[in-house]
Amino acid sequence: AKAKARGSVTVFEPEMDMQIRDRRVLHQDLSNAIRNGEMSLYYQPQASSTKRVGNNDIVGFEALTRWRHPTRGFVPPSEFIPLAEESGLIVELGEWILREACRQAASWARPLQVAVNLSPAQFLNTDLVAFVHEVLLQTGLEPGRLELEITEGVLIEDFDRGLSLLRRLKALGVRVSMDDFGSGYSSLTYLQAFPFDKIKIDRAFIMNLGRNPQSAAIVRAVIGLGHGLGVTLVAEGVETQDQLDFLVDESCDAVQGYLIGKPAPIDQYRWLVGLDALE
Ligand code: C2E
Ligand code: CA
Ligand code: CA
Ligand code: CA
Repeated sequence: AKAKARGSVTVFEPEMDMQIRDRRVLHQDLSNAIRNGEMSLYYQPQASSTKRVGNNDIVGFEALTRWRHPTRGFVPPSEFIPLAEESGLIVELGEWILREACRQAASWARPLQVAVNLSPAQFLNTDLVAFVHEVLLQTGLEPGRLELEITEGVLIEDFDRGLSLLRRLKALGVRVSMDDFGSGYSSLTYLQAFPFDKIKIDRAFIMNLGRNPQSAAIVRAVIGLGHGLGVTLVAEGVETQDQLDFLVDESCDAVQGYLIGKPAPIDQYRWLVGLDALE
């Protein structure tokens, strides 16, 4: 087995070389992408699910970044976010994302929430709190409308720093969400120790709702747990009416997913946010 493994490494070497070269080029491209206007924000609606969902029940949007590469077309965030993190470009990119999301949300006629994802490097390695504060002042966005999403993994790296950052962010008046709950090393300790406003239940559990009873039990338990802690629950990746019905029955607070709406340029949702024709 060892010889075989060694052999396959040799076989794949040229390909790996290419991948590395490819990444180098992509990294170069990424460093120019912001100033070339290749980055944009898509928005995915979140609907209240405490009663039947209708268009009036949209409570906010999650901003999801899109990179339209001039020759490759759309590069998924699952590729360029890690690349930006490794290279340090995440600082500049993350600042652009946050500023852009706040600027756009401030122009909406309806005071809906806007959620922005923070990558681990962005959360831990920059002067995030001062920057968020500055952007709120610059854009005039009401702090309570901004929601910052972080994954729990980031808190494992540095518990004390994570806690201090969360507290300082909350002191600014912004909301903080735990993203992808259940997907990683979920620990109840984190829920107790960190002052999250919201828990986003990972799509994997929602996807399996109709398929296995364990997922239903877990989702039900997480909703109960969250409510017991005074936290708002959001289900991610809701694609079917059956999933929605279950979540409504279980008193989940909000839902997000293709059933409600796909991520799209805000133009597609202007009737919801009350954008006037000028913006
Ligand atoms: P996420 O934060 O968990 O975002 C939700 C992802 O699920 C999005 O993928 C969204 O398009 C997708 N999604 C939403 N509803 C459904 C559904 O009903 N079914 C299915 N199958 N998928 C659904 P996307 O936009 O490709 O983003 C992937 C990940 O990349 C995000 O996961 C987030 O971790 C990261 N990301 C995206 N934008 C940003 C950003 O601006 N900053 C940072 N740091 N990360 C970002
Ligand atoms: Ca997210
Ligand atoms: Ca998520
Ligand atoms: Ca995710």
